[in-house]
Amino acid sequence: MALQFDTEIQFVKGVGPKLGELLRHRGITTVKDLLENYPRAYEDRRAVRQIQSLVAEQLVSIKAKVISVRSIPMGKSHRRIWEIVVGDQTGRIACKYFRTPYKGYFERFQPHQEVRVIGKVIKYRGVLQFHHPDVHVLKDEEEANSDALMPIYVEIEGLNSGKIGRMIQAALAQHSPEGLMEALPSAIREKYGLIRWEQAIREIHQPPPEQGDQYLKYTSPAQRRIIFEELFMVELHLAYRRAGIEKEKSKPVVSNGTLAEKLKSSLEFELTGAQLRSYGEIIRDLQKDHPMHRLVQGDVGSGKTLVALMAAAFAAEGAAQTALMVPTEILAEQHYQNASRRLRPLGLEVALLTSDVKKKEREEILARLKRGEIALCIGTHALIQADIEFKNLGLVIIDEQHRFGVEQRNQLKRKGVSPHFLVMTATPIPRTLAMTVYGDLDVSVIDELPKGRQPIVTRKTFQSKYDLVMGFVRDHITKGRQAYIVYPLIEESESMELKNALEEFEKIKALFPEFNVGLLHGRLKSSEKEDVMNRFRAGGIHILVCTTVIEVGVDVPNANVMVIEHAERFGLSQLHQLRGRVGRGEYKSYCVLVLGYALSDEALQRAEIMEQTGDGFKIAEADLEMRGPGEFLGTKQSGLAGFKMANLVRDLRLLQEARDAAFDLVRQDPELKEHPYLKAKLDTLLKMWVG
Ligand code: ADP
Ligand code: MG
Repeated sequence: MALQFDTEIQFVKGVGPKLGELLRHRGITTVKDLLENYPRAYEDRRAVRQIQSLVAEQLVSIKAKVISVRSIPMGKSHRRIWEIVVGDQTGRIACKYFRTPYKGYFERFQPHQEVRVIGKVIKYRGVLQFHHPDVHVLKDEEEANSDALMPIYVEIEGLNSGKIGRMIQAALAQHSPEGLMEALPSAIREKYGLIRWEQAIREIHQPPPEQGDQYLKYTSPAQRRIIFEELFMVELHLAYRRAGIEKEKSKPVVSNGTLAEKLKSSLEFELTGAQLRSYGEIIRDLQKDHPMHRLVQGDVGSGKTLVALMAAAFAAEGAAQTALMVPTEILAEQHYQNASRRLRPLGLEVALLTSDVKKKEREEILARLKRGEIALCIGTHALIQADIEFKNLGLVIIDEQHRFGVEQRNQLKRKGVSPHFLVMTATPIPRTLAMTVYGDLDVSVIDELPKGRQPIVTRKTFQSKYDLVMGFVRDHITKGRQAYIVYPLIEESESMELKNALEEFEKIKALFPEFNVGLLHGRLKSSEKEDVMNRFRAGGIHILVCTTVIEVGVDVPNANVMVIEHAERFGLSQLHQLRGRVGRGEYKSYCVLVLGYALSDEALQRAEIMEQTGDGFKIAEADLEMRGPGEFLGTKQSGLAGFKMANLVRDLRLLQEARDAAFDLVRQDPELKEHPYLKAKLDTLLKMWVG
C-alpha cells in the first residue's frame, strides 16, 4: 500500500503490530515521525577510524573486537557499572554503562566478536572511553553496504541503527509523494536557496556520497533545509506573537521625567553611558500606545536595578504605578530597602509584598495600591495574585528571571489594557538565545560596568589547600572586609559526600572565634533570612556561610572575598552569578574555586574558563556550548529543547536567515491567511510547546 504522512507506523513494510507498539512507546507513531527520526550522525566509511586516532568529544563509529565484558560493583551501594572493553590493532577502549539499557543487554556480547561501537569519546581522568555508546554485533550484510556515508540512528530498545535505517528506507520506498507537504513558501525557498522538503528528507537518510564533507559539517543542502525549517518555525511563532503585542493597547505614560532626573542627581555616582542609553530606550517605549516589551541584558553588577528605579520614577510622574517582581524574598527585601532609600526622598511611596507579609499589613498595602498611593510595589510571586488591584498599573518589571517571567506577563494584563513590560536578566544571554527564547522582545544591552570596577581575581584550587584558603579569608576580614563561603548542600546527604553548610558553619565558627559568622540557606524562615542579610549588610557578620540562595542579586559592596566549595558541582552561569556577589564596590575582589576530588574534565574546564574571563557574555556562550539550551535555561523552553537537528551554537547564520524570513512573512501576511498549512503547523507546534 502507498503510505501517507499520517499512516500509522505498523503499516510500514517490515514493522507490523509488535514493533509498531515498541516504536509508539518511543513517540514514533506515524510515517512522518519515522521519517523525522533523523540520523544522529553519519559514519564516514571513507576513512576507517582506529582506536589510536580517537580524540575526546568526537562522535565516532569504530569497528573493533570485544575483549572483555564485566560488571563492577560501585562502592557500598548495590549499583554496578558495566564495562565492555573493545580493541583493534591499534589499541583498546572501554565502553562504560552506569545503567543497563535493558535486561539481557550485556549477555549478547562475547570475547572475539566483531562489533561496531558508535558514541561520543569522553575523556575521564585522562583516559578516553565511551559512556553508553551503541554497540552492536556486526553481521555480514551490513558490511556489504559500502556507501561512503552511513546514517547512524539512535538505538531504540534492541533495534539497532541498521534495523532502524532499513525501516526508514522501506517507508521512503513505499511513500506516495502526494502525502508530503511542503511547509516553506516557494518565495522563501528561492530567496534562501533551500531545496524542497521531500528531497531533503530522502537525502538525509541517503546522503549523496559526493556531499560527504558537507554532511559531517551540517552544511549539506538537506541539512540546511531541515535546520532552517526548525528554526523558522520558532521564529514564526515569535514574529506572530510580536505582531499580536503590537496590536495590543496600553496607556502612554505622560511624564516630563523630572523625578527621574532628580533621582539621577541624587546619586553618589554617575550613571554609565549604557545605563542612560537603556533608560532612554525604555522611556521612549513607555510613551507609546502599545505595550513596551523589552529585555534589559547586562552583566552581573552592571547596575540594572537603577535603570529600573529610573523607569519607575518616570512612570510615577505620569501617575502610572510600577510592579517589580523578583524570584526570592531576600532579593525583594533588598530591592525594597534600596528603592525606599532612593525614591522616598522624591516623595514616592514604595511597598513590599511577599508571602510573608502579615494579613493586616497586606490588606492595608492592597488598599493603598488600589487608591494609587503606592508608586512602586516590590514582591515575589505574591505580586500577581488575583486579589491585587492597582489603580493604574503602568509598568511591570521582572528582575533576575529567565523566560519564565515573560509567560507570566499574560497574568498581569488587565481588562484589555496591557501594562508596559520590562524583563531584566540575571546574566547575559548568548546571541542565539536572544534571538530565540527572547526573540519577541526588544533588547537593551548594558555592556559597560560602572567606573572604577576592578576585575575580580579568580583562582581554582583544591581541598588540600583548605588552610591556605582560610588564611586568605582571615587576611581580608582582618582588614575590615567581608566574605562569602558557599556550599552546594544545606545538610549532610547520604548519596553524596559533599561538604554542607550546616556542618561547615560549626567548623568555620570554631576556626574564626574572634569574628562573627552567619548562616544563610533556603530552609530558614524568611524573617530569619532577612535578619541574617541585614546583619551582613550592616557589617555585623564578617563571614557568611551560605548555599546558592545568595546566587542572584545580593549586593553588599564591602564583601570582597568569595569562596565556593565544591566548585565542580556548579555550572558556568551559576559560578558567574555567585562570583558577581563580590567586586561590587571599591575593593579589589577575589573568588576562590575550591575543587573536590571527584572532578570531571568538564568541571576543570569550567574552573579554567572562570579564571580566564570575567565577561559574562563569553561565559554564557561557553555555557551554552557545554550544556545546550535546555540545560542552560534551567527549564524546557518552548520548542528549543525539541530541535531535532538545529543546534543553536553551530547554526547562528541560518538562525539569522530564518528569523529574517519569518518576520518578513508576518509583516506581509500578519494572520498567515495566505499560508494556511504553515498556520496549522504553527498551531500544532504551539500545542506541543506551550501545552
Ligand atoms: P545588577 O545589574 O547585577 O543587578 P546592581 O543593580 O545590583 O547590579 O548594581 C550593582 C552595584 O553597583 C550596586 O551597589 C549599585 O548601587 C552600584 N551601581 C549601579 N550603577 C552604578 C554606577 N553607574 N556607578 C557606580 N556604581 C553603580
Ligand atoms: Mg540585579
